[in-house]
Amino acid sequence: MNSSESTTDTAADSGYALQLRTQLQKHWGYSDFRPLQREAMSLVMGDRDSLVVLPTGGGKSLCYQVPAISRDGLALIVSPLISLMKDQVDSLQSVGIKAACINSMQTQRDKIEVADLIRRRELKLLYIAPERLVQPKTIEFLAQSKVSFIAVDEAHCISQWGHDFRPEYRQLSSLRDVFPGVSIHGYTATATPQVRNDIVEQLGLKNAEVLVGSFDRPNLVYRVERRADGITQIQQILKRHKGETGIIYCISRKNVEATSQALNRLGFRTLPYHAGLSDDDRHRSQEAFIEEKVDIIVATVAFGMGIDKSNVRFVIHAEMPKSLEHYQQESGRAGRDGLEAECTLLYSPADAEIWNFLMNDVEDPAVKAAGETSLRSMRQYCTSMRCRHQLLVEHFGQKLDSLNCGACDICLKEMQPVEEPLVIAQKILSSVIRQGERFGAAYTAQVLKGSKNKRITENGHDSLSTWGLLKADSELQIRSWIDQLVSQGFMRSVGEYNCLQVTSTGRQLLKGQLQPTLLKTRTTEKVASAEDKWEGVDRDLFEELRGMRNRLAVQKNVPPYIVFGDGTLRALAAHRPTTRQGLQQIQGIGVKKLQEFGPVVLFTIQQWCEQHKLSSNVGLSLDEETVPQEITKIEPRAAVSSIPEEYLEYFEQRIPVEEVADQLDRTADTVVKYLTAFLQRRRITDIGSWVPLIQQTRIEESLGRLGSERLKPLFEDLKGEIPYYVIRLVVTAWELKQQEDS
Ligand code: ADP
Ligand code: ZN
Repeated sequence: MNSSESTTDTAADSGYALQLRTQLQKHWGYSDFRPLQREAMSLVMGDRDSLVVLPTGGGKSLCYQVPAISRDGLALIVSPLISLMKDQVDSLQSVGIKAACINSMQTQRDKIEVADLIRRRELKLLYIAPERLVQPKTIEFLAQSKVSFIAVDEAHCISQWGHDFRPEYRQLSSLRDVFPGVSIHGYTATATPQVRNDIVEQLGLKNAEVLVGSFDRPNLVYRVERRADGITQIQQILKRHKGETGIIYCISRKNVEATSQALNRLGFRTLPYHAGLSDDDRHRSQEAFIEEKVDIIVATVAFGMGIDKSNVRFVIHAEMPKSLEHYQQESGRAGRDGLEAECTLLYSPADAEIWNFLMNDVEDPAVKAAGETSLRSMRQYCTSMRCRHQLLVEHFGQKLDSLNCGACDICLKEMQPVEEPLVIAQKILSSVIRQGERFGAAYTAQVLKGSKNKRITENGHDSLSTWGLLKADSELQIRSWIDQLVSQGFMRSVGEYNCLQVTSTGRQLLKGQLQPTLLKTRTTEKVASAEDKWEGVDRDLFEELRGMRNRLAVQKNVPPYIVFGDGTLRALAAHRPTTRQGLQQIQGIGVKKLQEFGPVVLFTIQQWCEQHKLSSNVGLSLDEETVPQEITKIEPRAAVSSIPEEYLEYFEQRIPVEEVADQLDRTADTVVKYLTAFLQRRRITDIGSWVPLIQQTRIEESLGRLGSERLKPLFEDLKGEIPYYVIRLVVTAWELKQQEDS
């Protein structure tokens, strides 16, 4: 289901489709658009103001990134957080696109560098904070270059009706006047019509096309469990996610600390995150999570904005959030890569009491009423027995086509119906009536369980005929049935103490005129999960490749998910390509990644297949080469007689190899052939501008042991992780140093 509020002009749209698709494939290695991406991109291409509403993980960034490289000039991207900007710039650079950001954390030198790039018109995307963009100095400077369009990311920050209102976003209302004739495009995951209209108005969008995608996230499995011993329940969920990363949300800082510590004692690797920690500690937790040095973050709602980590495999709510908007947003951080992920909420009615208590301080009656409504919807979600995907999208004003989502505890039938629901329901309702309708769920459950606690005996309720009627069931189970009966309208809970009262339909039920549905809550450990994408994937090879990804990430100083997404690793571990041609067919590998990481990936897979006697290139079409070129064919280190003119300036300026290759449209190997000649002629041994120090040290360590006679043993000693051309550069400098020393 992909609804768009108004349909796009398809004729104009198709004019760009081919061009856009080519870029998508070339740079990102993706073969197709996600829903509404093509339409959204076409609007940018056609300079038509737009607002695009897609859920987290819907692929909003590509909606402006692909047009940015397909158009002339520089695209300005407004983004609220430095961490978000940095992540996006890293990720664009990793696919070979010229992007940069300007922010307050940069050194003067960095800023000058970016300004130079803009002046030389070499940049395609510039990320910038709203308050900076509207400064006269910035505007004046940007006037020198051709601004292609403006994209406003996280556009809901402009609306005070949204939950992330940022006053500095308000300044964006002047953009229209400051950049006349430049189209403006907003992107958000916030679904409410009020916020949407506010964005259009505040940004001054003209005749804007509003595209609204489906809010369903079919790859997320939703579950709700009645909370008993929270830690034990969390532990059971974590067992299903060994070695995977995830987030656990708690309401309070205190609970964050306690949960994190309890899990660490049980042998899990977790770090806490909440507003009470120092900036440094928070930063450290966040970095460790992003870099996968720690699997699990236990956090308050303070955590999440600015986290683009695509391979979060589970989000657990140890307590109930205060609204479905919050739940949708927090759980939505799972599975951005489109692969299956689990979202489980542990719920207890006590959670609602905490939120009610926290709302006591709110003075504005309208705000308070809105808070109470939100809380009520949230509780209904927890106690309802309808499909959770359906409930979530309905809350955002949409509907699911299918009746069974196949990805929630209800549709997966993880909760079994009880055999005689009417009898159980009647026992519960009659106990409530006999108790005088003056007690809550916990008390009622204790009476039915047959408790002799002081309050019950003092009230004489141990002599009620309903006392101990449900002795055989757990108190937790009875409480869950009470919730279920409330959610079906047979009882309601009223007043400050949530006293249970039987409704008129409840009275019909007592007479046997109606049937309730009651489900047994799950007691199992092993549960079915949504259709997962592990088919044909060699799990051990996947782990091997993950190790490789982590090492590459450290070398490149970017998060692992920017090197390769989990989907790409799974495809590699299923198809096991050992040739360049095969590798090109893997989703998520565009030209830049093929060039940069191709050798190490092919090497790792080939070794694995040899060691484990596995077939390679499964399901890939190969016509020529069957042996990996990079591994067998090594160019001889032929002497170069002259260095072509066009290279010299780049070498003098110590421009990185990849960039020269890009600019001159040559391979890195060719560039290095001339660069080594250049080093030899000038007797340059300091190659810090071309090869990062950690790589140099690693290669030199191998060189010390193996000598520089042949490159192949060095390449293998370095586990194939460093391309030949880099090794060749270090070898050249090393040999020069040796000559100097002797
Ligand atoms: P959003 O900003 O809407 O939350 P992102 O732009 O971060 O979503 O995209 C989420 C993930 O989906 C990223 O890892 C991105 O690379 C991937 N993605 C986006 N578009 C496609 C596509 N057409 N095919 C495959 N993967 C895609
Ligand atoms: Zn369902």
